[in-house]
Amino acid sequence: MLEAKNIKKKFGEVSVLKGINFKIEKGDRLAIIGPSGCGKSTLLRCLNLIEKPTSGEIIFEGQNILDDKTDVTEVRKKIGMVFQQFNLFENQTVLNNIILAPTLLNIMSEKEATIKAKKLLKSINLYNKKDNYPSELSGGQKQRVAIIRSLMMNPDIILFDEPTSALDPEMVEEVEELIGEIADKGMTMIIVSHEMSFIKNCANKLLFINEGKVSYFGDIKDAYKSDNKRLKEFLDIVK
Ligand code: ADP
Ligand code: MG
Repeated sequence: MLEAKNIKKKFGEVSVLKGINFKIEKGDRLAIIGPSGCGKSTLLRCLNLIEKPTSGEIIFEGQNILDDKTDVTEVRKKIGMVFQQFNLFENQTVLNNIILAPTLLNIMSEKEATIKAKKLLKSINLYNKKDNYPSELSGGQKQRVAIIRSLMMNPDIILFDEPTSALDPEMVEEVEELIGEIADKGMTMIIVSHEMSFIKNCANKLLFINEGKVSYFGDIKDAYKSDNKRLKEFLDIVK
């Protein structure tokens, strides 16, 4: 359902991604790990067309979305994204944050969006915060709002960029639990995270990026048996 073919990305003269290849199927949960600065966020941003790769192909649901013909808005509806820093609109209420994109893009009427948003807020026990502003929420609550916001579009895949690394430790679990529940419902996802216990629970595939290249791609179970020296060293650090 999503395949990266030889994705390269340069910023000026600096090569960040030096030919990334991987392929995932519907229902896969791919974890991406790698040293800070190795290009994990850049890769997610390329997959979501926030950033344009210097070269390569991204085949999503049978179509190369780097083609000039691609309707970027249509692709973004199907590829949800959750950021490390939540990226909520601080001057909008929780409810407005959730209904803004689907109503602005005319995917739903405001009424439909509001009904769906309220249902989602109830499902994460934050209905009583619907009229609050993001600054009045804890980090864990903000991230859970950001996650249900991405669900509003019924995406085919969600990309999570270190969704718990900006959180106080006691809030990590509530966010991981929600991601786990979404995974259990069959959502395809890519998760950049170094929370290995969570990854082992939630993900079935692992991509290890080192120095801009794929050092390991395969089943997460096999990663721990792999004799890839760099991967072993890295797993030792993040365990
Ligand atoms: P990671 O998420 O793995 O920590 P990033 O993808 O954020 O790494 O960054 C990879 C490298 O690309 C870093 O050296 C970073 O400074 C650089 N980089 C990221 N975005 C930009 C940009 N817009 N302009 C220039 N350099 C960038
Ligand atoms: Mg990053």
